[in-house]
Amino acid sequence: MTLHIPFDNSYARLPADFYTRLKPEPVPAPKLVAFNEPLAEELGISGTDDPRLAPVFAGNVMPDGAEPLAQLYAGHQFGGFSPQLGDGRAHLLGEVVDRSGHRRDIQLKGSGPTPYSRRGDGRAWLGPVLREYVVSEAMHALGVPTTRALAAVRTGEDILRERPLPGAILTRVAQSHIRVGTFQVFSSRGQYDALQTLFEYTCERHYPDVESPDALLQAVCDRQAALVAHWMSLGFIHGVMNTDNCTLSGETIDYGPCAFMDRYDPQQVFSSIDRYGRYAYAAQAEIAVWNMAQLATALVPLMPDADDAVARFTEIVHGMADTLQREWMSRFAAKLGIATPAEGDGPLISEFLALMHKGQADFTNAFRGLLSDDARDQFTDRDAFDAWETRWRARIASEDDPEGLMRRSNPAFIPRNHRIEQMIAAAVEGDERLFHHLNAVLARPYDDQPEAEELRRPPTEAEVVPATFCG
Ligand code: AMP
Ligand code: MG
Ligand code: MG
Repeated sequence: MTLHIPFDNSYARLPADFYTRLKPEPVPAPKLVAFNEPLAEELGISGTDDPRLAPVFAGNVMPDGAEPLAQLYAGHQFGGFSPQLGDGRAHLLGEVVDRSGHRRDIQLKGSGPTPYSRRGDGRAWLGPVLREYVVSEAMHALGVPTTRALAAVRTGEDILRERPLPGAILTRVAQSHIRVGTFQVFSSRGQYDALQTLFEYTCERHYPDVESPDALLQAVCDRQAALVAHWMSLGFIHGVMNTDNCTLSGETIDYGPCAFMDRYDPQQVFSSIDRYGRYAYAAQAEIAVWNMAQLATALVPLMPDADDAVARFTEIVHGMADTLQREWMSRFAAKLGIATPAEGDGPLISEFLALMHKGQADFTNAFRGLLSDDARDQFTDRDAFDAWETRWRARIASEDDPEGLMRRSNPAFIPRNHRIEQMIAAAVEGDERLFHHLNAVLARPYDDQPEAEELRRPPTEAEVVPATFCG
C-alpha cells in the first residue's frame, strides 16, 4: 500500500512571519528503528507497510499534503531572554485531525538546519532520539499529557558531538508546538497584530470556550499546574523548563536532559547544564509559576487597559500556587490510597517523603511497595516507618478502594536513567533489543510484570547516571 497521511494544515495558513517554509535536508541512508503503529492508526495514517516509510520519516521524501516549515519562537533560557530561537533542527510537516477529532502536529526533529539554527548543526544523534522515544511514550502510558513519538529513523550518517555518533531523526506528534515563547517573540517585538492572531489561533485550537487573554492565561495556568504536579508525583524532572519548552496545550515537551529520580531527593538535578539547580525536582512548581508570569507579560498588550491587565494577571498567576498545591495534594494522596484529601493528609504525605529522603529510599519502589508490604525494606529507620504505617493504615481504613487507587497512581515501572543509558550504548553498537524491550514493558507501567522485574531495580553504585545531556 502507499503511505497516506491525511494532512489538514492550519499553521501554514498563518501569516508568513510565523515561520520559514523549507524542506528537511536529505540524509544518506534512512533506516527505520521504530514506528508507532497504534499512534499512526489513531492519527488516521494508512499504508504503513510502504517501503517509503523510512525515507519519509527521515525527511528525504515529502509525503503528499506536507507543507514543511520551521516555526519561529523566542524564550527565556535559564532565566535570560533570547529574543529569537525557533526550530533550529525541526520541520513541521503539517497537521492531521485524529480519529477523536483533535488536531495534531507531525514534526521531524533532527531533520537539518534552518534559519533558526544559530551555531547548531540541525541534527540529533541516536541517543537523544531513542531517549525521547522511550520516555515520551512511557509518560503517555503513565497518563501524563505529553508529545508522542511516531517514528525513529537512523540517518546513516555520523554527526559530531564529543565524538562521531550515529545521526537520527524523531517524528514527534503534539497537540501543537505553540509555546510561551511563541507569544513572547511577537510581544517582545511589538508585533501586536501577529500576537492577536496567535491568541485567536491558540484559543480555537486548544481552548474553544476562551474569549479573553485573561481567560486564556487562567486556562493555561490550570493545565500547567496539573501537569507539573503530575510530573512530581512520578519523580519526573524535566530538566529544561525554559519558556520555549512550555506548551500552551499543557503537554510535556522537549525530552532533553530529563530524568526520573531513583532515590528521593527534592534537590535532585540531572542536567549537566543546570549548574545552579534552577530546574531541580522540587523547584519545578515555582518555575511553572515563573513561566506563567512570562506568558502573562507577553499577553498584556492584548488587554485594553494595561493597569487593569497587570492587576488581573497578577491575581491569576499568584492563584496558581494554590492550584498547584491542590493538584499536588490530590496526586500524592492518591499514591497513598486516599481519594479525597482531608485535613491531616498533608502531614501524612510530608512525613512519608521526609522518611524517604532521610533513608534515601527509592521513590518509585517505596510508593509501589506500599501495595505489597515491600515498602518497609526501602527505609533505614524501620521503627519510624512502622509508626507512620500504623497511622496511614488507620487513615485508609475508611477509603473505598485504596488498593485500586494506589495501583493506578504508583507505577511499578519507570524509564530509569541507567536503563536508558544502557539502551543507548547498546543501540550505538547496533543492538536495539533493549530499546524495544523498554518500550514493551513501559507501555504497561502499572501492571506487575514478573518477567521484567529486573527493570524495577534501582541502579547499583556503578550504574548510577550522575548527569544527563541535551544532545
Ligand atoms: P532546547 O534547549 O532543546 O529547547 O533547544 C533550544 C534551541 O536550540 C531551539 O531553538 C532548538 O531548535 C535549538 N537547537 C538545539 N539543538 C540544536 C542543533 N543541534 N542544531 C540547531 N539548533 C539546535
Ligand atoms: Mg526545546
Ligand atoms: Mg531540546
